[in-house]
Amino acid sequence: MTKTLFISSEIFPFAKSGGLGDVASSLPKALSAYIDITSIMPLYSVINREKYKIQSTGFKYSFWVNNIEYQFEVYKRGQTLFLKDNRALFDRDEMYGSYKDNDVRFGLFCYAVLEYIKAKGEYFDILHINDWQSALIALLLKERYHFDSKIVFTIHNLAYQGIFPKKSINRLGLSWDYFTVSKLEYHDNINMLKSAITYSDVVTTVSPTYAQEIQTHRFGCDLENLIQDNEYKLRGILNGIDYDEFNPSIDSYLPKNFDVDDLSNKKALKKELLKELHLEDEQKPLFIFIGRFTAQKGIDQILESIHHLAQMPINVAILGSGEEDYNYWFGSLSGRYKNISITIGYNEALARKLYASADFLYMPSEYEPCGLNQMIAMKYGALPIVRKVGGLKDSVVDFEEISSFPADKGVGIVFEHGSLEDFIYATKKALLLYEDKSRFDEVIKHDMCVDFSWHVKSKEYFKLYKDLQDGWLPECKIKEFEIPTHYDIDTLKTIAINPNTLFTYWEITNRLLDKHQISLKDLKLKAFVSEVEIQEVGVHDGVGNYYFDMQMDFESVMTKIGYIKADGTFISILQSNRFVAPNSKVIKSDNIIWRNLTTLELSSKDAQYMENQFYETSDKLSSSTLVKRRTLQELIKREDNQSSTTLSKKGGF
Ligand code: ADP
Repeated sequence: MTKTLFISSEIFPFAKSGGLGDVASSLPKALSAYIDITSIMPLYSVINREKYKIQSTGFKYSFWVNNIEYQFEVYKRGQTLFLKDNRALFDRDEMYGSYKDNDVRFGLFCYAVLEYIKAKGEYFDILHINDWQSALIALLLKERYHFDSKIVFTIHNLAYQGIFPKKSINRLGLSWDYFTVSKLEYHDNINMLKSAITYSDVVTTVSPTYAQEIQTHRFGCDLENLIQDNEYKLRGILNGIDYDEFNPSIDSYLPKNFDVDDLSNKKALKKELLKELHLEDEQKPLFIFIGRFTAQKGIDQILESIHHLAQMPINVAILGSGEEDYNYWFGSLSGRYKNISITIGYNEALARKLYASADFLYMPSEYEPCGLNQMIAMKYGALPIVRKVGGLKDSVVDFEEISSFPADKGVGIVFEHGSLEDFIYATKKALLLYEDKSRFDEVIKHDMCVDFSWHVKSKEYFKLYKDLQDGWLPECKIKEFEIPTHYDIDTLKTIAINPNTLFTYWEITNRLLDKHQISLKDLKLKAFVSEVEIQEVGVHDGVGNYYFDMQMDFESVMTKIGYIKADGTFISILQSNRFVAPNSKVIKSDNIIWRNLTTLELSSKDAQYMENQFYETSDKLSSSTLVKRRTLQELIKREDNQSSTTLSKKGGF
């Protein structure tokens, strides 16, 4: 039976700030039907231990990071473990806040999880980490702890990456070896989420569309190139929701319950809620918005539209809180229009009553990794009005675009753009649908019956875990490229051939072979391209020339080649310097490339770094392997004379 540790910075009902908390509670619960799964999170002081009957297991352990000793005690409730530290890492007013030591708080949580496994001597087939707060586990596992577990990393929202000043490397007792462009380094800071993309065995997003979107400039949050490189290990699995929790027929937050067969209590709830919110006329449709006040959620569109909505024959109820400016604007609009109610804050009970009473739910998100609100709303008989992005696109279709009801999707109103016109137009469409009572009822009933539970979707995670446990790993795709053939002696060069293709070539001289008394056929090669290891690369032409090329949108790339004897003994390393494109916009235009790119001499710091990368190091870098300075003008000339050869490449580009 697969044994999994599910690691999250929040788990409902103990602590929740959004969808992550819901998923971290409901997915492990659904998976526990098939596998042995334990969840683990920090024991924040804001968690009510008595209410949730969270008790100490008595198990304590300690470890050192950056010359500081940390002691942890393990608490438990059911299948959830809570880690409590002795240095007030989680003894704060807020879970996340903008604390200056958030790097240490969550970095230490990552250490503490791995140290717990070590101290317990427990084995897990899978460590499932989530978002930036537990992202560092991937790097620590692969570089330091070396447990034989596979890592699944789920990105719930790419916009939150855990970026901190680079001094965090020391604060977290990490090696500067990891301060490289594909690992932790990010514009001279560290980026925890980024390292997990590189180090995890599989990366999942919370909807299939979001997995595609984050490979583009619009949605990639500046990591699209890295994500494209790792596309081979990326999977999109739509989130589900827990119908034991979000279900109008049993929801204990509701004074009255209802189900698809009898909606009379929904109407009664609406009447009560309108009264509570000082809204009038239950005949009018009720539109709601629930969520974080942040640009992602399309808040600007709502603010822009409010005056227009106030003129329409509808009621609107807004519940949320978030960024200061938005809190201020909503606060100043509160009470201004008699058909618009605004509640600022986080209120689970009110949220449930809003879902239960609403006719429509607004979700005009600029981007939406999955979105749970629309699924919850549908279960409660409120039709979603959504922008066509991410998980919203995967879970809702427009009522005008269907000829019959789709089995696995909800039906609502879908619009494309973030403009005022689109938003108002969608609201008008909703009004027309609402007036067509029988059609409206039909759509509501369909939505209430679509199965968005984890019973369906958790099976995809189950299969993923099982495959990984059985030894499967996602494979880099093999692509074919045209490459130039012959260049220089004893040098390694990486040059840009066109805006998207880099070409690395090197030659092995008889001198090198003689020196080490080996023949060409006994020589193995390993290459790293921007820290991605490519095993035994290269095609040699029989006289000692090896070629390797790659295709990618690049901003910063470095190539390194290690010679290794057939018996595994390390011989030496060649390294190109790092190429930094001026910026990706320029690099993609026609007249670029050659200008800023030259190969430079390998510094002793880089040489040292290289040695560390090659674990089979047994030889010092010799002066004969220094990369020679050479201008790209010369290389261009050479390229003009090239003939071409085709070769296969194994790599994730
Ligand atoms: P997010 O991007 O915030 O994770 P999701 O749609 O994935 O968005 O999940 C949001 C969850 O948080 C839902 O369960 C929603 O009902 C809940 N939620 C959001 N804001 C509030 C609030 N102000 N009060 C109560 N519940 C809220």
